[in-house]
Amino acid sequence: GRKFFVGGNWKCNGTVAEVKKIVDVLNGADVPSAEEVEVVISPPFVFLPQVKALLRSDFAVAAQNAWVKKGGAYTGEISAEMLVNLEIPWVILGHSERRALLKESNEFVADKVAYALGQGLKVIACIGETLEQREAGETMTVVSEQTKAIADKIADWTNVVLAYEPVWAIGTGKVATPAQAQEVHNNLRSWLVANVSSEVAESVRIIYGGSVNAGNCVELAGQPDVDGFLVGGASLKPEFIDIIKSAL
Ligand code: 13P
Repeated sequence: GRKFFVGGNWKCNGTVAEVKKIVDVLNGADVPSAEEVEVVISPPFVFLPQVKALLRSDFAVAAQNAWVKKGGAYTGEISAEMLVNLEIPWVILGHSERRALLKESNEFVADKVAYALGQGLKVIACIGETLEQREAGETMTVVSEQTKAIADKIADWTNVVLAYEPVWAIGTGKVATPAQAQEVHNNLRSWLVANVSSEVAESVRIIYGGSVNAGNCVELAGQPDVDGFLVGGASLKPEFIDIIKSAL
């Protein structure tokens, strides 16, 4: 089976004091064991060393981005090598906010995924359609193109988690229904069978993101192809603990 995965994407939020508070709550929580659920917390870069140092050892940390190739004269960027050097095991790549606001293309995201994996990082690769694309019936075309760009550049999916995050559900309170999430996840798995391999399709975790909260996580988690969550807003609150518990 695929181990349930819960990521907390803090996005561009937090202060030193708030970070300490959130980590204290996480550290004091009674949650399923690391055998049952993989929990990965993703603070902004500047808080990563603080969180890594304070966080309980059964949870891991992720960066929210990494540069597309070896570091050097790229002002403002953080390289995969630096993350490895700091023993940050995971990185989120291709988040829709970066695709939309910073114009990261499918190609660029795929290059980042390939480079990060090559450096030994584990990658949460994000994909998802806009409302306009969904209403035009283009959901599968969009997410399969995003996935294909990545598939074309990597050979080994062992260290990849695919995060399906419909843009219309992110930060809107408008969560995908369990049926909508299941449909896309199942279609993605079929796409992987046809275009990568049945082994990868069977083993890769496909997690859902977009307005996940304590109230909707259990039903979503019950869908056969929903292998976990990437949580934004609710990951800054104690209800994140309830979302972790939906693994069981
Ligand atoms: P929200 O949970 O705030 O909708 O954000 C989802 C997300 O973008 C996680 O990466």
